[in-house]
Amino acid sequence: MKTGIYPGSFDPITLGHLDIINRSSKMVDKLIIGVLRNRSKHPLFSAEERVDLIKKVTSDIDNVVVESFDGLLVDFAQSKGADVIIRGLRAVTDFEYELQMAQTNRKINSNVDTIFLATNIKYAYLSSSVVREVASYGGDISHFIPKELMSAVYAKYNV
Ligand code: ADP
Repeated sequence: MKTGIYPGSFDPITLGHLDIINRSSKMVDKLIIGVLRNRSKHPLFSAEERVDLIKKVTSDIDNVVVESFDGLLVDFAQSKGADVIIRGLRAVTDFEYELQMAQTNRKINSNVDTIFLATNIKYAYLSSSVVREVASYGGDISHFIPKELMSAVYAKYNV
């Protein structure tokens, strides 16, 4: 049985993330979406809220589970018996950082490998920070995130 981990901040989850989740869930028996608690970053949504939002929009995918984690990704992966870490690549700008992370993680734990999925071109520009920026001014985020999550994001900015 192959278990994959798709880690990230997901603050909030976007259609780009969801595309990676849909595609990678078909490549493994079980896909764990690992929501990073990132204590130092002051996220818009708490880890619990981010987990709930992701659960809401992935409930139709049978082999997906959503959990938050703290600490090193490879330790989380090891504790879950995961074989692969899945990351999305949007552009060359993502590449250098992602390669360094993948190599570091492999150095720390050679049992876990990283695979990269090229983003769907439709979502190549999209990031959670774009969603936050546009939403903070009350702009239209309907092309960026699942429709059922829009009100939760606007509510954070009182718009
Ligand atoms: P992090 O804070 O660790 O970068 P993110 O939540 O921003 O986490 O992203 C998690 C993963 O999803 C990363 O691998 C990132 O490259 C990927 N990703 C982010 N946005 C998109 C997108 N629009 N299309 C495809 N992959 C994406």
